[in-house]
Amino acid sequence: MTVINLGVPSLGPADPAPADGPLIDTFGRIATDLRVSLTDRCNLRCTYCMPAEGLDWLPGDDLLRPDELARLLRIGVTKLGITSVRFTGGEPLVAKHLEDVVALTASLAPRPEITLTTNGIGLARRAAKLKRAGLDRINVSLDTVDAARFARITRRDRLADVLAGLEGAKAAGLDPVKVNAVLDPTTGLDDAVGLLRFCLDHGYQLRIIEQMPLDASHQWQRGRALGADDVLATLQRHFDLEPDPAPRGSAPAQLWQVDGGRGTVGIIASVSKAFCAACDRTRLTADGQIRNCLFARQETDLRRLMRTGADDDAIEAAWRAAMWAKAAGHGINDPGFVQPDRPMSAIGG
Ligand code: SAM
Ligand code: SF4
Repeated sequence: MTVINLGVPSLGPADPAPADGPLIDTFGRIATDLRVSLTDRCNLRCTYCMPAEGLDWLPGDDLLRPDELARLLRIGVTKLGITSVRFTGGEPLVAKHLEDVVALTASLAPRPEITLTTNGIGLARRAAKLKRAGLDRINVSLDTVDAARFARITRRDRLADVLAGLEGAKAAGLDPVKVNAVLDPTTGLDDAVGLLRFCLDHGYQLRIIEQMPLDASHQWQRGRALGADDVLATLQRHFDLEPDPAPRGSAPAQLWQVDGGRGTVGIIASVSKAFCAACDRTRLTADGQIRNCLFARQETDLRRLMRTGADDDAIEAAWRAAMWAKAAGHGINDPGFVQPDRPMSAIGG
């Protein structure tokens, strides 16, 4: 394949995906960051993600077996140029084999960076084991430090477990420990201030993420979720914020230095200021589907390919074709936007 200026490929959507080189799409974006969902199950019921009664979990036979996941990780890293792997879910700590999967990923060459997004429940007793297995960094989701609000948002009274998980991650030497927050539309601005104080006091890095239309109940409403500008204005009333001078690259968070360098806060404006043009992600669901975007309406079934005897070259080609077809953007703000059928918990955020 010929690549011209700015990395934009000279091939178009009507051409087949390139058979080698990096995992590229027709807009010239290269995917190097693989998000792997290990399960769609979870022990919380965050209102913006899952209904109170949970969901119809994926049938056990549909889930990738450990050998199948190992094979796809190897193909991703050794043939497709994946340099970073993030395990997520559902709740990845619900997956008993998480430490084994981390260790296996760490044994690949070239070794990718290995990270985890978790709600932190049960992390206190597993953080050291995960670090020893090869985990490099961690993001713990926490939307408020107020116990009553936490119980209302997650429908479980587990704030203490999450705080213990954060402590465990720090004690295990996972550095930096990042805290991901999706703010509640009613209490979120107040929660943001409390979270930033808490994170500054404990040495955690706060990342606030705009709520997206990925909830299983399809309750998300345009204009109801808090926007990045409102969050920033509120934080600026309580803290001294200066733009972080470091180049942002493909990182989704706009970073701010807080109170003369006491810490940083990141604001991820996924809806109001989409960063799709810099996206470097490819996603693998727990049932072996490749998604080229959180909001994709089509998936590529690598599990079926593996189970019908496809060789590594065929799997590699299918993965390349899936990414080649990636849309320019998520389209949330387009008039004809349609929310994907799979909720966030079954995709892997
Ligand atoms: N259970 C783990 C956790 O909560 O960190 C991992 C999976 S969860 C789907 C990954 C991330 O997606 C979390 O930080 C969560 O807050 C975020 N998330 C879930 N639903 C979301 C939504 N509708 N909009 C934006 N972020 C969402
Ligand atoms: Fe579970 Fe994470 Fe969804 Fe909350 S956001 S319900 S912790 S998967």
